[in-house]
Amino acid sequence: ATSVVWFRDDLRVADNPALHEAVLRGDPIVCVYVLDDESPGIRPIGGASRWWLHHSLEALGESLRDVGLTLTLRRGPAREVVTGLVDEVGATRVLWNRRYGEVERGIDGDLKASLREAGVEAESSQGSLLAEPWTVLTGQGGWYKVFTPFYRAVMAKPTPRHPLAAPTKTDGLHHREVASDALGDWGLLPAAPVPDWAGGLRERWRPGEAGAAERMETFLTERVSHYVADQDLPAEEGTSMLSPHLRWGEISPFQFWHALDGHRARASSDAEGAAAVLRQLIWREFSYHLLFHLPSITTENMRSEFDRFPWAEVTDDELERWQQGDTGIPLVDAGMRELWQTGIMHNRVRMVVASFLVKNLRVDWRVGEAWFWDTLVDADPAANALNWQWVAGSGPDAAPYFRIFNPELQASKFDKHGSYVNRYVPEAGTPAYPEPMVDLKESRRAALDAYATIR
Ligand code: FAD
Repeated sequence: ATSVVWFRDDLRVADNPALHEAVLRGDPIVCVYVLDDESPGIRPIGGASRWWLHHSLEALGESLRDVGLTLTLRRGPAREVVTGLVDEVGATRVLWNRRYGEVERGIDGDLKASLREAGVEAESSQGSLLAEPWTVLTGQGGWYKVFTPFYRAVMAKPTPRHPLAAPTKTDGLHHREVASDALGDWGLLPAAPVPDWAGGLRERWRPGEAGAAERMETFLTERVSHYVADQDLPAEEGTSMLSPHLRWGEISPFQFWHALDGHRARASSDAEGAAAVLRQLIWREFSYHLLFHLPSITTENMRSEFDRFPWAEVTDDELERWQQGDTGIPLVDAGMRELWQTGIMHNRVRMVVASFLVKNLRVDWRVGEAWFWDTLVDADPAANALNWQWVAGSGPDAAPYFRIFNPELQASKFDKHGSYVNRYVPEAGTPAYPEPMVDLKESRRAALDAYATIR
């Protein structure tokens, strides 16, 4: 007998229910990651995510080696690749942790059915969400379209389970040696002659489980007590910075939840901060709740009147000014440059740059979503789409369209001393800096006029 553990958005050995189950069964284990750019409907990951994935797989390979296992890498349409591997090693069991996108669920469901038909055990576990989307329902049995009642419903549920311990060498694990692709051959990293855009990423991040644990520890010991005061200040590292680690499952929400909860209980000075972060973590759950119940959220306006919205035609040059942080609006430019250089952008600034694109430039939110998809290390199908729709006003629980962020006012409130802008746009205020590409007042009025046509 042999177990295959199929890793996906759960690149960790601790608190990994699928791996844990395989260890309990005691049979030899084949651990596999499948790079799937090919299954029909699959959205290939963006450039920053590819960089992250490369390093995260390296780290996972090491962690598995430390406990006596090996990571096998295969590429191709996931269903075919996993089926082929099962035949190749004569596996009797395939285990994985669930994912929630429509295409991914289709692949997993078909695979499960065909494996079982062939007499192979196939089991999925809950590893990536605190609450499965089908277990949080309204009094009428429907799903939640608004955050606050969803949050209350999740908080009213029993405490999430405690994290599972990582396997150790002493568990006496056996791995099955099988042929693996070489990670370097996958070409996930930017290759010459493309400029080395990954320098800022290397400086800022340490992908993998150990990097995630380190970030969480620093956050809990140094920052959670200031979270409420600092969470909106882009110049400070006031938030957890765990989003890419959560995206790739290098840390599970169960681990983060219990660490926060324990902290909340121990240090009353940190209780308020910990509760506020837990609430953000529930926003992540809410994104997946919507993705599961309304898969079209990634591509279609949730409010259909936005299908008639008169988006402006922008030239490639204009769009590039937004992408490259050359709009002449300092806070917008700082955010876009932070994103390009480091693969991340502070949440407050994400809202500002998104509002500027969708409202002042009147560009369809999907154009911005696609840029974020390519450049964010935490790019995630659920949170990215939900938040873009939230800013655009096209989601059900969204900022109303007429609430248009004024980037200058936002800068004076949240970057009072200009430290954030200075870091990324040192030339702001000098003759070298361009004039704003649109007049903020006029473009605001034009956006409101455009909105009036669909109300
Ligand atoms: P913390 O404040 O420490 O929060 C803890 C965790 O809660 C985060 O790591 C994240 O997993 C979750 N979280 C926090 N805020 C949100 C939110 N608004 N929606 C969903 N989950 C949240 N987040 C992504 O993870 N992936 C995306 O692709 C993404 N795209 C976004 C696009 C736009 C236009 C906007 C406005 C926001 C987007 N966000 C996205 C949400 C948010 O900006 C990031 O989750 C946050 O900045 C991550 O920083 P942190 O880990 O320090 O967060």
